[in-house]
Amino acid sequence: MKIARFAMDSSPKYGIVQGLDEHGTPTESAHLVVLKADPLVGGSEATGEVVRLDEVRLLSPVIPRSKVIGIGNNYANHVMEMGDSGEQVKAEPPTVFLKPNTAVIGPDMPIVLPWWSNEVHYEGELAVVIKTLCKDVTPEQAERVILGYTCANDVSARDVQRSEPQWIRAKAFDTSCPIGPWIEIPEPSGFDPMNAQITTSVNGQVAQCANTRDMIRDVYELVSYVSSIFTLLPGDLVLTGTPAGVGALHAGDRVSVRIDGLGEFSNPVVSE
Ligand code: MN
Repeated sequence: MKIARFAMDSSPKYGIVQGLDEHGTPTESAHLVVLKADPLVGGSEATGEVVRLDEVRLLSPVIPRSKVIGIGNNYANHVMEMGDSGEQVKAEPPTVFLKPNTAVIGPDMPIVLPWWSNEVHYEGELAVVIKTLCKDVTPEQAERVILGYTCANDVSARDVQRSEPQWIRAKAFDTSCPIGPWIEIPEPSGFDPMNAQITTSVNGQVAQCANTRDMIRDVYELVSYVSSIFTLLPGDLVLTGTPAGVGALHAGDRVSVRIDGLGEFSNPVVSE
């Protein structure tokens, strides 16, 4: 089941997305079954109202109440393109960082390149949406605390990431966390977060193409690890790391992240 957050009339609403093909791409008849409440709060009861997908504006599918947790170096091919050894990274704890919820934007909202960076990169990633308040969950328990999955772009000021010991300025600036287009809530024999094709494109040209099965640590191991550090709250996001192929964004570009079976969203890029 796919649940979108969208704008229609004045206040944001939630709806179940229907009329997609098997890849998660909208067909002519794509529509939303409007829900009574935020699925993190009120389940999935419908109002009876149905609206066409092309008549609404999609918003970020969730506004994290407390935090977006980022994971660095989780695909060996990306670790190597950044100049480290994949084997060495596997033996060490994952690199963890935070993005504030002010970094989050939804589909079609502009990524604003900060004036203090000359090299801002895209990083297409699978993001986990947390459902349940939890701490110290095991990998075996992790599935129970996960609401679903969405596509994310961990936009990073690479020059600043290289030149400063802390990643906070490089990773946490406004608009550095586009997410969308909706939350995929896995059903039996449906979307598999451990075997999902992820593709990042810039101006229609494929830049990153990988499968989530190539993660060094899988989704459940990551949720378990970050829950050993933080209490996780409903709506928190865990970005699971980017594969190889990262590169620079420039004003005027349009960058998209697609996860097969989940969906695709894109953002224009503008200068500050
Ligand atoms: Mn990343």
